[in-house]
This record gives sequence, C-alpha cells and structure tokens, in this order.
Amino acid sequence: MKFAQYHIDPAIKESLEELGFRKPTDIQYKAIPSILKGEDVLAIAQTGTGKTAAFAIPVADRLLRKRQLNVLRCLVMVPTRELAVQIATVFRDITRHTGLKVLGLFGGVGQDPQIGALKNGVDILVATPGRLFDLSHQGHLALAHIEVLILDEADHMLDLGFLTDINDLVRKLPTRRQTLFFSATINERIKELAYRIVKKPIRIQLSPKDPVSKNVDHAFARIEMDDKRFFLEKLLKERPEAKVLVFVRTKLRADRVAAAMQRVGIDALVMHSGKEQTDRLKVLTSFREGQSRLLITTDVNARGIDIPDVDYVVNYDLPDHPESYVHRVGRTGRGVKRGEAISFVSKEEQPLLDAIEAYTGTDIKERNIDTESYRLTVAETEDTPNDNWRKLLEEAAATEPKKRKKKS
Ligand code: ADP
Ligand code: MG
Repeated sequence: MKFAQYHIDPAIKESLEELGFRKPTDIQYKAIPSILKGEDVLAIAQTGTGKTAAFAIPVADRLLRKRQLNVLRCLVMVPTRELAVQIATVFRDITRHTGLKVLGLFGGVGQDPQIGALKNGVDILVATPGRLFDLSHQGHLALAHIEVLILDEADHMLDLGFLTDINDLVRKLPTRRQTLFFSATINERIKELAYRIVKKPIRIQLSPKDPVSKNVDHAFARIEMDDKRFFLEKLLKERPEAKVLVFVRTKLRADRVAAAMQRVGIDALVMHSGKEQTDRLKVLTSFREGQSRLLITTDVNARGIDIPDVDYVVNYDLPDHPESYVHRVGRTGRGVKRGEAISFVSKEEQPLLDAIEAYTGTDIKERNIDTESYRLTVAETEDTPNDNWRKLLEEAAATEPKKRKKKS
C-alpha cells in the first residue's frame, strides 16, 4: 500500500511526496491505522525503521480533522536537545502545507524566545524534560487541550530519572487523551511503568527477536585499553572516505581521543553534554553536512539521532548499559542503507560484552586480530610515544563519576 491510498489529509500526502516517502515502512504500516483510530500504542521497532513518521503522520492527520489551529494539542517528549530539534524538524516537514505550528523546546538556550513562540500559538511541542518542566512550573504551558502525548525513546524517558516529573506532568493533562510510546528497546520494568500511564491496554505493534537492526553488520575485536587509539587511527586511515561515529564512555575521554587523533593528523569533531548548546548543534550540523567525517561522542548521541549516511560506528568503549549498544550501533544502517559497527573490547570490558550478548540474545561476531598484525598496528602508529597521555587517561577514568543523571 502506498501513502497515496491512505485516508489522510491531502496536505500531508503532498509533503510525504516531497520528502520522497512513497510507501510506509513496516512499523508505519502497522502503527498508523491504530493511531488514526485514536488508540494508545506502545510500538517497539528496530533503530532506523521510521518510527518518527509512524507517529507524526497519523497525529498530524488527527490534529487536522478538528480545525482548531495553534492550540497546543500534541506533546512529544524526547531525551536529548538534539533529538528535540530533529523530531520537530520531521513534524515541520510533514505538516508544512497544513498551517500547524511546531516548536522544539530544550535547555541550554535562552527561554524567552521559546516563551514568545508559545504565546504566539503552537500545535505540536517537542520537548526535553528539563526545559519542559521549568516552563510548566513557571506557568508558560497551557496543557488543558493536549490530545496526544508521545514518549519517543520511551524506555529511556521512563527511566527513573524522569519518572516522577513525567507522572506529575501526566496528572496535569486531560485524562481523555491518546498516549503513544515508541522505542527500539523496552524492558519489563519499563513496560509496567508504561501501562500505569495509559488507561486502556496498549498495543505492542512490532517486536523483533534481535533488537539490533538487520541493516547493521556488527562485530567486536579484542583490543587493550591503551592500544585502542592505535586501532582507531588504523581504521580511519584505511577508510579515508568513511563517515565514522565513535562512542566513548566519558566526556573527558571524548576530548582525549580527539586529541590523540589530532596528533596523527586526523581531524575530529567532539560532542558531549559538557559543551555549550550552540556548539553541540553546530558540531552535529557539520557532521551531518559532511564538513567533517569523524565525530567522537558520548551516549548523549546514542539515541534517536538520524544521520542517514553514517558508514561506521565504533564503540571505542563498551557502554555501561547493554541497551545503549543497540542504540549506538543503530546510528548506522538507517532506512534502506547498510552500516557497519565495531566494538573495541579490552579484558576489563569482558563482563560488559557478556551483558550485551545476554541482552541481545546473540553471540556478537569476533573479528580476530592475529598477534603479528596487533603488534604492527601498535608499532606503526604515527603518534609520538607519550606517557603523559596514558597517565591523564587513567586519571580521567579514575576521577570521572561512572554514572550521572541526565538533564536536558
Ligand atoms: P527510528 O526512529 O525508527 O530510528 P527515524 O524515524 O529516525 O527512525 O527514520 C529513519 C530514516 O528513515 C529517516 O532518515 C527517515 O527520513 C527515513 N524514512 C522514514 N520513513 C520513510 C518512508 N516511508 N520512506 C522512506 N524513508 C523513510
Ligand atoms: Mg527514533
């Protein structure tokens, strides 16, 4: 079935055509009819399968049926500022011929322009929890007409850090509303929480056995902590054209790894939550637009970010939470594209690898590096031996708190 045959507003169909969306993806095919009917939906589908449009298309259509423009009727909650910008853009693209107004609301930037935009009238608000709760407490949000609440990356949103605030907010929303949860991963505890927020049973639309997207060819290699930079250098030099996203465990490590790459003549962008918000957005734009082909980042970019032409994801460090593995490698192989991912696993990280394999229910392929090529990779680096660097990294690892609360 093509979008042209759907019973949705012609203005939406027009923009779908302009976006080049002809046929729904699987999750869109399954979720759109239920959402159009007004049902509550919990949708689990792999990364890069088009979940955003799966909710944006039917929700926009429902808002248009009642011609009540520029009243806040749809609230989308997302875990990061960059995701707020991205999801708002998708809504804007889909509704550009409709008169519906979309606002992305997030922290790290001045709130006055946001308050101004809200006063002028907004139909769809895409927000991170921090700024949303701030403005709500200051009385700048009129929530009385909300018809649809959407939690994108739902499991993460319901994670304990946000739960109390979300519950408080939900109490302020009209009880007759539609609630939608979308994510690539979900666990039993989160499912329970989700059931508490909706009244009628929600429907699980699509649940893959293997949560890792089938478009991603992923493997791991055994590389010791102190040697990882040499292997990253090798990988980047072997693929001078590839667009590569590198995930590390902490902000400090992101800066350090970038500095190590710089020393061997490889330019890298760095993005993490310690950077100014305007910088964060600028960095992501230059990576998206290809001004730079290498971005070193933390889990702040693991969820939801859609950069369609990332060729390679490198887990320089394994993530502490196994579901982050699924999200990180899901930054490549999006839509119909294929992608590759590799994880560098040191001896200390073996338990993390075990946890990831238990979580995904699969044995991750090992890419064997024989002793001789391991030795050569370390020997052939263009990096000058620098023991300070190693010491700094160790210090960084020792002083940086392991887990921190996310605030957006
Ligand atoms: P998810 O949230 O499932 O990870 P996204 O919603 O970010 O995935 O979409 C992934 C990519 O697929 C985006 O680049 C989007 O433009 C593209 N896409 C979504 N739906 C369609 C469609 N029906 N036809 C073609 N491309 C699509
Ligand atoms: Mg998404």
